[in-house]
Amino acid sequence: MTETDTRPTNPTETSDLDRMLAPDEARAIVLRHVRSLPVEQVPLRHAAWRALAGDLIASEDHPPFAAATMDGFAVLAEDSSPWREVIGAHMAGQVSDVEVTPGTAVRIMTGAPLPRGANAVVRIEETEPADDHVIIHQEQIAPGENVRPVGSDLRRGARLLPAGTILGPAELGLVAGLGINPVAVRRRPRVSILSTGDELVEPGQPVGPGQIRDSNRFSLVAAVEGDGAEVVWAGHAEDERRALRDLLRERIGQSDVVITSGGVSMGDLDLVKALLREVAQVHFRRLFMKPGKPLNFATAGDTLVFGLPGNPVSALVSFALFIRPALAAMAGRAVADDRVPVTLQHDIRSSDRIEFQRGVVRATPDGRLVAANTGSQSSSRLVSFVGANALLVIPPRNAPYQAGEQVEAILLGPPLGPTRDQGGSA
Ligand code: AMP
Ligand code: MG
Repeated sequence: MTETDTRPTNPTETSDLDRMLAPDEARAIVLRHVRSLPVEQVPLRHAAWRALAGDLIASEDHPPFAAATMDGFAVLAEDSSPWREVIGAHMAGQVSDVEVTPGTAVRIMTGAPLPRGANAVVRIEETEPADDHVIIHQEQIAPGENVRPVGSDLRRGARLLPAGTILGPAELGLVAGLGINPVAVRRRPRVSILSTGDELVEPGQPVGPGQIRDSNRFSLVAAVEGDGAEVVWAGHAEDERRALRDLLRERIGQSDVVITSGGVSMGDLDLVKALLREVAQVHFRRLFMKPGKPLNFATAGDTLVFGLPGNPVSALVSFALFIRPALAAMAGRAVADDRVPVTLQHDIRSSDRIEFQRGVVRATPDGRLVAANTGSQSSSRLVSFVGANALLVIPPRNAPYQAGEQVEAILLGPPLGPTRDQGGSA
C-alpha cells in the first residue's frame, strides 16, 4: 500500500494488521469467527469419537426393572420359613408370571428381573437346593439385598452428557443403552493442508542442494486427525503467485479450515501473507509470542484460514494454541481453559516475547505438578516436541526463570505419573 492509496481505513489496513497481538487476544478473535458445523445423523456403528450434537437426556430409568445382582433365589426378605418351595426360574431376558409368597422362592440369575412379590435375592452360596425346594442358610435377609432397583444407574430425565461431548467407549455405550440409533452428531470439520515453498521436496524423493523435505504437511495431518477432524486434501504448492492464489481459492471453497505452512515471514517469496489479503479477510498476522510470531489468521465466508509459519515447531505450536480450540468449538465443544500451574525443575532463559516451550509435566508423589523443558527450543528442532505433554508458558521478563518458580503450562496430554528417580523434589 502506498501513501496515495485513498481506500477508506478498515480493520484490515496494514498498520492495524501489523499491531502485535497477545496470544490470548488472538485466540479470542479466532473463536469469535468459529461457526458450529451442521448436524448429521450417524449410525452408532460409525459414531465413535464424533461430537454429540445435543445434550443426551435419559429417556427412561435404567435398569427399567428391579434386577438381581447375584445368582441365587428371589425371596421375600421378611419370610422366615426354613425351606421354600421353588416355584419357577428367572433368567436374564426370560421372565415368568409367578408371584413369590411366604414359603416360596424363584431361582434367579444375575441381571434377571425380580419376580412379583420378591424383594431380595439370597446368593446361591447361602442355599442348599433339594428336589422341588430350597433350604436357606442365611439368617438375616435385608429387603433389597442383591437387588439393583429401578433407575439406580440412570434416572429418567437426567442430563447424562452435554452437547459437544466426544463419543468414546463409555459415552457411546450410554447412547446405545438408551436405544438411540442413529445419533445426531456434528459434521467433522473438513480441513485442507497446504505446504508452500520452492525448497520443499516430497519425502522419499532425492533432495538437491538447498532443498528440504516437506515435514509440516504430515505433522499437520496427524494433528488434524488427532483432533477428530477430516483431512479432505493435503498437498504442496510452489511459490508462484497465480497458481497459489487459485489453489487457495479452491481449497477455501471446499473446506471449513484451510491450513497453510510457510510464506508468511518477511522474505521476497513470502507470498501467502500477500495472497491471503486477496482471497480472504485477514484478522491478524503478528503475535507477541515465540515461536509463531508471523501466524496469519483470515476468514472467507465461514471458512477459517490459518497461515502458519514454515518452521516445523512454530507450525505445531500455532496449531496447538489456535487451531485446536477452533476445531473443538466447531464441534460445539466448550473450549476449556487447559492451563495448570507447574513448578519449574530447572532454570529457563527468558525472552522478550511470551514463549511457549515444549515441556514434560509430571505429578510428584505429593500431588504437585513439576515441569522440565525438552532441551533446546530452537523453532526448527522438531525433536523438542517429541514426548512433550505440555507447552510451558514463559512470560517475558529481564531475569531468567529459576528452578522452583511457578509458571503455567498448557496441557497437550495427561501429566506423567510420579517416578522414583525424580523423587518429587523440584
Ligand atoms: P518460511 O516460513 O517459508 O520462511 O519457512 C521458514 C523455515 O521453515 C524455512 O527453513 C523452511 O525451509 C522451513 N519450512 C517451510 N515449510 C516447511 C515444511 N513444509 N516442512 C518443513 N520445513 C518447512
Ligand atoms: Mg518459504
